[in-house]
Amino acid sequence: MIIHNTLTKTKEKIVPRENKKIQMFVCGPTVYDYIHIGNARTFVFFDVVAKYLKYRGYQVDYIQNITDIDDKIIQRAKENKKDPLMWAKEYRQKFEEDMKALGIDSPKYVPATEHIGQVVKQVKALIDRKHAYLIEGDGWYFDLSTFKDYGKLSGRKAQMADDAVSRIDENDKKRNKGDFCLWKLVKVGKELEIGNWKLEIADGEPAWATPLGWGRPGWHIEDTAITEHYFGPQYDIHGGGQDLIFPHHEAEITQQESASGKKPFVKYWMHVAFLINKEEKMSKSKGNFTTVHELLKQYPKEVLRFYLLSGHYRQPLEFSDKALKQARAGIQRIKELTKKLENIERNKNDGIVAYALREAFDEALTDDFNTPKAFGAIFEFIKRMNTDLTSDSIGQKGAEEASQMLSYINSILGIVPDTQDEIPPAIEVLVEKREKFREEKNFKESDKIRTQIQNLGYEIEDTIYGSLLTKKSS
Ligand code: AMP
Repeated sequence: MIIHNTLTKTKEKIVPRENKKIQMFVCGPTVYDYIHIGNARTFVFFDVVAKYLKYRGYQVDYIQNITDIDDKIIQRAKENKKDPLMWAKEYRQKFEEDMKALGIDSPKYVPATEHIGQVVKQVKALIDRKHAYLIEGDGWYFDLSTFKDYGKLSGRKAQMADDAVSRIDENDKKRNKGDFCLWKLVKVGKELEIGNWKLEIADGEPAWATPLGWGRPGWHIEDTAITEHYFGPQYDIHGGGQDLIFPHHEAEITQQESASGKKPFVKYWMHVAFLINKEEKMSKSKGNFTTVHELLKQYPKEVLRFYLLSGHYRQPLEFSDKALKQARAGIQRIKELTKKLENIERNKNDGIVAYALREAFDEALTDDFNTPKAFGAIFEFIKRMNTDLTSDSIGQKGAEEASQMLSYINSILGIVPDTQDEIPPAIEVLVEKREKFREEKNFKESDKIRTQIQNLGYEIEDTIYGSLLTKKSS
């Protein structure tokens, strides 16, 4: 298995720290709103990574944090006159529902507010090792002058004005410009007891009573506190969207390597390129986003997964109606084949499946999870199977073998739907006939068939994955 490591900027063979065990952590959402399809790109991709590594025989321990305490949550809850912790709880639930609806079942979700003890422990370790200092009335900060390797992941040491994720902790008493907050102090009001913790919710700002003072975790610390608790100070794979390389992941390295003195904190760093909308990163702050919740009302999960996996994870992916239509057409092709395979006559002669889909698929995924190349293999397979089915050179045994190949692929990519729009057989025959004319570049005949199809109440559009058939709305 080869993957691209952001730390070394090269493709490397995966060699886990311990035998066949892989510990993987991916930055999860800040739960103050529904997640958008850009977030889902990252989550669907790592779902495939986890599933495929398991298939390759690795024992994968996959964790994703949930940021359920953060400035944005507090602000949004205040705007809605709600308690921030309750607000976060509600959106955490909606997030998990979206994940389930997208067929993502590989990570264990770990919320920050359930790991305050680990956060405090790590900040104390940083204080003891003289990496952290206090700014009275504000918080505990990391002193960047104490960590000479700062910048080794991103090649950067400073924030840029146009950074998409610019949650900079500003205070003119900071020792160095880039110092970031580890523990944010909050003024104490009325105290509450919740579970083992004393909690304060005055002014809508939750705070925990700890030896560091009343407060809440800084942005970067929850991830390393969580991973140190579950994995120890070093582990195998850390993933996220590319916006997190700097400053977030750089800060994570800084914190964990300083707290434990062990390096490297993480062996392989993997980053997903942006899903973009009208040439800009899709993001909540830009307001150019479409939520997964909305999209799931219009498209089956397989279409969304197909779309998200149709581009290489290290390349930007454009969000458009056209791209979603193409995905829909792709799913129709796959489903048509599965239907044909299910309906094959029992007593037919058995031909063999001439195309080794599984091998071609594995070759693509073992090379840095090249999903578009894997899709190429799937569509080559569909083409060849359709030819063999038309010429009756495949029988029941061959069909079973082909179905098994598709179900293997589906167990990793999740792109084969259980149900499909019922298309009358007469129309299916016309679509296939038209497809043949198109292949022969006989556009006059193919246009005639298009009109016939339209007269029967269906629209047909051509995409890179073949034709997309939709029922005309009456
Ligand atoms: P957030 O809730 O903004 O912290 O984002 C949650 C996850 O989604 C992080 O791993 C981000 O890097 C990732 N992410 C955010 N926006 C995009 C995007 N437009 N394309 C791909 N991944 C994204």
